[in-house]
Amino acid sequence: MKEKGLLIVLSGPSGVGKGTVRKELFSDPRTTYEYSISMTTRLPREGEIDGIDYFFKSREDFETLISQDKLLEYAEYVGNYYGTPVDYVRETINDGRDVFLEIEVQGAKQIRDKFPEGLFIFLAPPSLSELQNRLVHRGTETDDIIADRVETARKELEMMNLYDYVVENDHVTLACERIHAIVLAEHLRRDRVEARYKKMLEVE
Ligand code: 5GP
Repeated sequence: MKEKGLLIVLSGPSGVGKGTVRKELFSDPRTTYEYSISMTTRLPREGEIDGIDYFFKSREDFETLISQDKLLEYAEYVGNYYGTPVDYVRETINDGRDVFLEIEVQGAKQIRDKFPEGLFIFLAPPSLSELQNRLVHRGTETDDIIADRVETARKELEMMNLYDYVVENDHVTLACERIHAIVLAEHLRRDRVEARYKKMLEVE
């Protein structure tokens, strides 16, 4: 039987730079995973192309896809639907190729429930370390600002607990390097490679 590909899920709080990191990853020739193009009901932005950036759908069509169980996950985000086509993901993984999703946190949670063997990477804002610096250098911020930032950081930290890895997005290139390292390590996990070795011994 063919070894399955990985389902790599990159998610994290809004505004953390998921889209920028994803674009940088896919402009790197070392990236071998395939990007799953999402469906959305939002209108295309200037320069966006249907079938490349997203599959742009009407609300009605999107709701039909939901009712036909054609989405691995979906979420409503700022008034629009976003979702991952299940057939593409299933076919690609079954064919032994890795799929990469860049989605918001509600969708990532749904996949964690349905597909726990996925590789879940949380992109964290650098504000967590910045926050630490500011708290260390007390006196540079008002109490209100610090309280606000602690509250934001707390919410962001809570979201993290469903993920396998945390990548701080302090610098896009560094974040991409960390993601490459995680994917490489995941491919070398004993439970993934041992079947191959067992097969080898059967032959001899
Ligand atoms: P944008 O409208 O800026 O392209 O994307 C808005 C948000 O939707 C981003 O956080 C992006 O990661 C997320 N997103 C894109 N595609 C999907 C998807 O298929 N499912 C979910 N749940 N979120 C998505």
